[in-house]
Amino acid sequence: MHLDPFELHRPSSVEETVSLAGRLAPAFDYIAGGTDLLPNYKMRLNVRPNLIALEDVSELRGISLDRVGAMVRLGELETDPAFGSAYRGVVEAAAEVATPLVRASGTVGGNLLVETRCFFFNQSFPWRKSLGFCLKADGDKCHVVPQKEKCYATFSGDLAPTLAVLDAEVEVAGPDGRRRVPVASLYDASGDGIQRHHLRPSELIVAVHFPPEARTLRGSYRKLRIRPSFDFPELGVAVAARQSADGGVERLALSVGGLETYPRRFDDLTRRLVGERPTIAKVRELADAVRQLVRPVHNTALAPDYRRKMAGVYVRRSVAEILGVAEETR
Ligand SMILES: Cc1cc2nc3c(=O)[nH]c(=O)nc-3n(C[C@H](O)[C@H](O)[C@H](O)COP(=O)(O)OP(=O)(O)OC[C@H]3O[C@@H](n4cnc5c(N)ncnc54)[C@H](O)[C@@H]3O)c2cc1C
Ligand code: SF4
Repeated sequence: MHLDPFELHRPSSVEETVSLAGRLAPAFDYIAGGTDLLPNYKMRLNVRPNLIALEDVSELRGISLDRVGAMVRLGELETDPAFGSAYRGVVEAAAEVATPLVRASGTVGGNLLVETRCFFFNQSFPWRKSLGFCLKADGDKCHVVPQKEKCYATFSGDLAPTLAVLDAEVEVAGPDGRRRVPVASLYDASGDGIQRHHLRPSELIVAVHFPPEARTLRGSYRKLRIRPSFDFPELGVAVAARQSADGGVERLALSVGGLETYPRRFDDLTRRLVGERPTIAKVRELADAVRQLVRPVHNTALAPDYRRKMAGVYVRRSVAEILGVAEETR
């Protein structure tokens, strides 16, 4: 596999980056750490002739408890002590992305916009050609759900669910100026594996912002994958909660990634526990409801029925642990 030639652009400010993007659109990609984009380019997946490197844009850097720049490396996030003690779930997720070498280059912004995955897509050009190309690159049909004209590639970023449960927002800059979008609204069921987020054309992620309430929450992340040292999530469960002194649930949020085309929050279900003293029966009820709602398809290594079943198990364990509810043995 080789990289086809491309032109590399190196702007040094957000304004310069966005104006360059406006001129080159749609024939460009932003490149941050390149750990997702360049392997995809080598497989000739949706290659563009221009790359806009974000490396020299200083405004995209910096870690604090209020703000993390889009170009912060996952390795930096993982080793920042103050950030780690405030946002345990985010750091648990960052530490489980790929390998230390990949995390030394891979960034927060790149992780939020990592390509959705499917075993008919993440393949070399000759492999895909021999089978017939699909909707997501070069073709006009889906091999997973042939009767539908949409892509079911799986959302496989680890950070987004953990940021969504904290009500974090992304600051984006584009041709129409800057705006903030809640991470939880960046992706939803109206998109698919191709239209995987709601950024407008040429928009750049500048930073992630944390509301003051995020620091009052306890968070966690549980990930299912085949090789724990390396693989993308087959399922990722993020939880954040706060309880009163007597154990009553004041706030509870849950987001599940690695199963569908977007990380999905379950606010209607978690709201039922707010104001309650949690019990294992209520936690089980929540976990069973999530298991019944999620719809993984057969496009990653593990079978959809198994991932669905494990969604129930991981949600039960994560919520029970965060709320301090003992799991009965049976
Ligand atoms: C072996 C291996 C294992 C991996 N395992 C995991 C895993 O377990 N979990 C996981 O989540 N990821 C995994 N990844 C994918 C990837 O390494 C990470 O998601 C990483 O955080 C991507 O960041 P990056 O800076 O390298 O993104 P890039 O590859 O540079 O970019 C990814 C996408 O984001 C866009 N982009 C990047 N930054 C911005 C920005 N600021 N604004 C707008 N668009 C932007 C790019 O245009 C591109 O479309 C793995 C990769 C490899 C090679
Ligand atoms: S889900 Fe279908 S369209 Fe999407 S990448 Fe897989 S085969 Fe292609």
